[in-house]
Amino acid sequence: MNSNLSSHEVAVQTKHFPECKGVEPGPDLVFVYPSELASDAVSIANTLQSAILYLKEITGKDPTQELRSRVVIGYNRQCNDPTWSSREGNRIRLPWEKYLNKAKEPLDICSHELVHPFFFVSPLHEINEFWGEGFCDFLRGPLKNFMGLDGKEWWQRKIKEAKNNKQDKGGNAAGQLILRACEWSGGATDTHQLIDNKSAIRDVVKRLFERYRDHPMSEEFTPTEWITAQERKYHKGPFRTFGEDD
Ligand SMILES: [Zn+2]
Repeated sequence: MNSNLSSHEVAVQTKHFPECKGVEPGPDLVFVYPSELASDAVSIANTLQSAILYLKEITGKDPTQELRSRVVIGYNRQCNDPTWSSREGNRIRLPWEKYLNKAKEPLDICSHELVHPFFFVSPLHEINEFWGEGFCDFLRGPLKNFMGLDGKEWWQRKIKEAKNNKQDKGGNAAGQLILRACEWSGGATDTHQLIDNKSAIRDVVKRLFERYRDHPMSEEFTPTEWITAQERKYHKGPFRTFGEDD
C-alpha cells in the first residue's frame, strides 16, 4: 500500500502518525489508521473522499493540486485538539481517545477539518485568515448533510449563536454567513431547503469569495471590539474601510 504514497506523504505519516500503520489512499486523501479501525477504514476513506469531491464542486477550488499533496488524515495519541495544518504538510491530526471508534467519528470532526484546506487556497484566506473557523463551520452544515450526518441541526445551532451575538474565534461568523446565504438565495428563510441545494450553496460561496475581498466581514453584523481587533490584526488588505494608519 505504501508504494502508492509520495515521499512527502510518507514523511507526514512517519512524523505525525507513527502508530497508524494502516493506509487507505484515495485520489485526494491518504487515510492512515491503527489496527483497531481496520474493518471500517475503507468505508471511512470513501466517505471522506466523496466529501472532498463535494467541497471541490461547491468552492471551485482544488487544494490537492494547489498544495501539491493529498490531505493525510490520521490519529495521534499525544494531540489534544483536532487540527489541519498546511505548514506541517496538508495533514489533519485527530486526537486518539476522542475520535477513535466513537459514534459518527471521524466523519463528524472531519466535516469541519476537511474545509480548512479549501479555505486556505481561497481568496478569503488571501485577505484575512481570521474568518477561517467561521467559514469552515458554515460549510460544515451542507457537508454534514452530504455525509449523512445532521447538518440542519448544526446550522440551527450556529444561527442561534449569531442571534445571541456569541463571538469567539470567528465562530459566530458561521451563523452570520448562514443568515447572509438565506438572504442572497432569494430571501429564503427556509435554511432546510438551502442546505441541500448544492448549486445555491455554490453560488453563495462564489459570492462570499467576491464580496469579502474588499469588504470587512465584521461590517455585516454588530462585532465586539475583540472581533474587530482580530479582523484588523489579520487583515492583509486591501479593504476600503481600513486606512493606511490601521
Ligand atoms: Zn478549524
